[in-house]
Amino acid sequence: MRINIMTLFPEMFAPLNGSILGRAVDSGILEFNIVNIRDNTVDKHNRVDDTPYGGGAGMIMQIQPILDTYRQNQFGGRVLYMSPRGKVLSGELAEALSHEEEITILCGHYEGVDQRVIDILEAEEVSIGDYVLTGGELPAMVLIDTVARFIDGVLASEESALDESVYSGLLEYPHYSKPREFEGLEVPEVLLSGNHQMIDLWRFEEAVKLTRDRRPDLFEKFLAEDRSFSKKEKQILDKYK
Ligand code: SAM
Repeated sequence: MRINIMTLFPEMFAPLNGSILGRAVDSGILEFNIVNIRDNTVDKHNRVDDTPYGGGAGMIMQIQPILDTYRQNQFGGRVLYMSPRGKVLSGELAEALSHEEEITILCGHYEGVDQRVIDILEAEEVSIGDYVLTGGELPAMVLIDTVARFIDGVLASEESALDESVYSGLLEYPHYSKPREFEGLEVPEVLLSGNHQMIDLWRFEEAVKLTRDRRPDLFEKFLAEDRSFSKKEKQILDKYK
């Protein structure tokens, strides 16, 4: 998947070179084209923003440098403008985007971009939540990271993007690793038993309890879905309904 990023701060994208995403780039699954919008300004002072028509606070990112960046680099695919006005990023949207061969992400700054950029590029506005950040770079990285997890070969073969909190329908059970005891806190006995059926049931019950207590909305949805459960899982669910 080719991911084009138009930004005023390309250096902010250094984290894309590390960890799982870095590995996906090295193996050719992901390609990032990160371009500095300022490189395409024709303003003699290198400016990319100006005051808003109609007055008001803040500066607006101008059309010319953004459209020239897009056109000169022959960017394509779905165009996403990171914006608090957009539809809120979800697992469904991330999964849908993971099937695209190319996407182009526009990161805003200051008060945002001239509306005509959004109109001309037919950009979809995507928000990462109901709060406001200073720029679209962190939101873009959040989007890229969660989309990448759905692309075949990005996660190690035994991992599945869907086996995680929320996507599985429940929040995930607690994890433990060595040592068995730390400052008096013991690993739950069942996890040391070697009995995989009991371990699975314990994990199911912990996931059910967590979800019911922290995310009653998710729990209701989980119960309403058409899922099949073993007799023992049904007994656990009955306890927490
Ligand atoms: N004036 C804009 C508004 O009220 O909708 C907010 C501009 S914000 C300070 C600057 C840039 O940060 C935005 O253009 C956008 O690219 C990015 N941004 C801020 N919050 C965001 C969010 N929750 N989701 C996605 N992008 C966001």
